[in-house]
Parts: sequence; structure tokens; C-alpha cells
Amino acid sequence: MDSRTVALIRTTFKAVAAEDGGSEKLARSFYAILFTQYPQVRDFFPAALDAQRDRLVKAIAYCVDRLEDPDRLLPFLAQLGRDHRKYGVVAEHYAAVGQSLKSALEAYAGTELWTDEISRAWDEGITVIAETMITAADQETTPPVWTGTVIEHREVLRNLAIVRLALDQPIQYAAGQYMSVQIPSRPRMWRYLSPAIPANAAGELEFHIRGVTGGWVSPAMVGHTRVGEQWLIGSPLGGLGVPRNTRRKMLMVGCGTGIAPLRAQLMAMTARRSNPKVDLFVGGHYPCDLYDLDVLSQLACANKWLTVTPVTESDENPWWHFDSTEEPIDLPGLQPRQIGQIGKIVAGHGNWDDRDVQIVGSPSMVQTTKFRLMAAGTPTGNIRHDPLF
Ligand SMILES: Cc1cc2nc3c(=O)[nH]c(=O)nc-3n(C[C@H](O)[C@H](O)[C@H](O)COP(=O)(O)OP(=O)(O)OC[C@H]3O[C@@H](n4cnc5c(N)ncnc54)[C@H](O)[C@@H]3O)c2cc1C
Repeated sequence: MDSRTVALIRTTFKAVAAEDGGSEKLARSFYAILFTQYPQVRDFFPAALDAQRDRLVKAIAYCVDRLEDPDRLLPFLAQLGRDHRKYGVVAEHYAAVGQSLKSALEAYAGTELWTDEISRAWDEGITVIAETMITAADQETTPPVWTGTVIEHREVLRNLAIVRLALDQPIQYAAGQYMSVQIPSRPRMWRYLSPAIPANAAGELEFHIRGVTGGWVSPAMVGHTRVGEQWLIGSPLGGLGVPRNTRRKMLMVGCGTGIAPLRAQLMAMTARRSNPKVDLFVGGHYPCDLYDLDVLSQLACANKWLTVTPVTESDENPWWHFDSTEEPIDLPGLQPRQIGQIGKIVAGHGNWDDRDVQIVGSPSMVQTTKFRLMAAGTPTGNIRHDPLF
């Protein structure tokens, strides 16, 4: 795609989505056109579309921002295509989505902005996206979806659970990747979760799940999961992971359940003969939020290349927290706990300009930490994180 085509796509999208409430209007219009003109695709989507709308616009923005970087965009689209096999989508569904998106954009751009050249630019962009996804899906030989039986569900915090599953067949993924998951009580509401352990031949998976207040799915995963129920799992996604022959030192920053894909990578690294130095900062609001310190302490004690520093915003547990066994504050192998905002603490330790950096957590935590590190001198190109949608 040439730079003029990319510029035309970007300009129209920004003009439409940047307007006050523009993203919401675009998404509403897109779904209205799609379901009216192609009613057969309605069943692929959940009944309530509020969370879906937000994700759609963020996903388009993510692609639009990377149109000039095919080395990153095309593998992402290929993964998405493989993942979309779980819906049973075929080429005609991609055409329906592409046409509806174009119609919605045209309606909001207005006749002044929407020219024939812009229309052709969008055709080209949509074709690249659809063809990359369709080709990757067609070439894939793994199952479109795996079934996992819940074998353990443990609430480790008031609003955070560890769920272990046994899959019907093993799934191959790189430690650090994530996958879409559907639970029986929330049909068609797929949500991304990151395995907290590396892939294994027995097909065991472990997820760490925080219940988001007001969320459709995560509170049910945390509060109502029963041993024996069956979850559906889509193809692995994402580009986090440790390069095979890396000598470059690493910095990992994780908050809350963001620790899951990082500890999966650390566990995978323990099986390698040599590893670069890794600094892991693990954050939470209160000391009691650091639910996985036992495992991190064991990893740090057994591996000299790993330094783990706990960070909390508050020095004290909240008044409602009660633990008769008392907090294990000084676990072996860990650095002393730091108090403060995690991005600020990490950036205060140096500019990390010689490191491969991974940041995992809520969208706001990722953005703030990235900003702090960049301000401290970490090159932007060295910082990796998952898409924030
Ligand atoms: C790449 C990736 C990996 C992920 N891995 C994990 C994981 O391992 N464990 C895990 O618990 N979650 C993980 N998530 C988040 C998860 O996919 C859901 O987004 C989250 O559980 C909320 O789903 P929900 O249906 O409960 O909320 P929704 O009904 O989708 O959203 C309800 C409201 O909550 C807001 N919201 C959604 N997510 C968050 C959040 N993280 N923080 C603050 N507000 C939010 C939404 O903007 C919306 O306003 C991951 C997300 C991504 C993108």
C-alpha cells in the first residue's frame, strides 16, 4: 500500500472518529448497516453490543495506525484470521463487514470529504486486511476452537481468581501470548485471557482473572465458575515473548493479572540453558494485591538472572483486608517492596535504554508506564505491549 493510500485512509478515519462521540456513532452506524443488510451475521455477535462497539473502533484504529508497518500489521492480522475461525466466518462475511464499514464511514465523512479516491483507498485497505485474515485461516491446520474443562477454581483475592483447565487436546502457544475465551454462561462474549504457564503436552492451562466492576464476563468468571464446566478457547494471539537466542537484557513490568503472561515467560526461560538478565517489577494497589509473590520468590531464588521487585501504591493493606496468617512480607529472593506509582518507580531506577521492555496491565497502567519510561530515555521501539482492547 503506497503512502498516499495510507494517508487517505488515516485522514478519513481520524476525521470521523476524532469528532465528539465520533467513534461511538461510527460503530453504531456500522452495526446497524451490517445487521440490516446482512442479517445472517447477527448470530456471530452478542445480544448486547456496548462493549463490542468500543472494541471494534479500537481494533480499526490499531490497524489504521500500523498500515505503514506491514511487518507488524500482517502477522497480527494473520493471528486474528486464525482466531476468527472460532466464529465459523467465511469470505462472504468479511465482504459484508468491509462493505458495511465503508458505508458507515461514507455516511459520517459526508460528501465533501468522501471522494472517489478515498473510496478506492478504503477498498484497498479493506482488501489487504480481509485477504490476510482469510488466507491465514485457510492455511491453518489446528482446530478452530479448543474445549477446556475447568479442573480448579480458586479465589485468591476478593475479586481475583485462578482458573485451571484441562483441554481436549494440547494447544501450542508461545509463553506471553493470549487467547480468546468463552464461558458457558456468557455465550458469544469472547474475552482475551493470558495463560500464566507455558504450553504443555498435557494441554493444561492456567488463567488469572480479575473481575472488572460492571463488566459482562469477568465477574462471572471470578464468581460463578464451577469445576467441570466447559470453556471454549480460540487460537493464540499476540507478540509478547522471549526471542529464542536473545542476549539482550529485559525489563518486565506487570500489574494485577498482568503478571500472568510475564511469569509464563519466566517459567519458559527456566528451561533454557542461559538467559539474559531480567528485571521484573510487579505491582498492585495494596500489598495484599500481590497474589503471586510465592511463585515469583521461588523463581528468583532458583534463577540468578532474575530480579523481582514488588511495588505497591499503598504501604498498608486496606482496612477491610483480614488475613489471620499475616502477610509474608519478606519472601526470600525478592527485592525490598517499593511504595509509589509503578511507572514512576521503574523510571526512577534508570533509563533502561539497553533493555527489551514489556509492559502488561490495564490500558491506563500500560500507557502511563510507557510514557514514564519514554520520558526517562527508553527508546519507544524497545517497548512492547499487547493491543489495548
Ligand atoms: C491482550 C489482552 C489480554 C488480557 N488478559 C487478561 C488476563 O489474563 N486476565 C484478566 O483478568 N483480564 C485480561 N484481559 C482483560 C479481559 O479480556 C476483559 O477485557 C476484562 O476481563 C473485562 O471484561 P468484562 O466482560 O468483564 O468487561 P466489559 O463488559 O467488556 O467492559 C465493562 C467496562 O469495563 C472496562 N474495562 C474492561 N477491561 C478493563 C480493565 N482491564 N481495566 C479497567 N477497566 C476495564 C470497559 O472499558 C467497560 O467500560 C486481557 C485483555 C487483553 C486486551
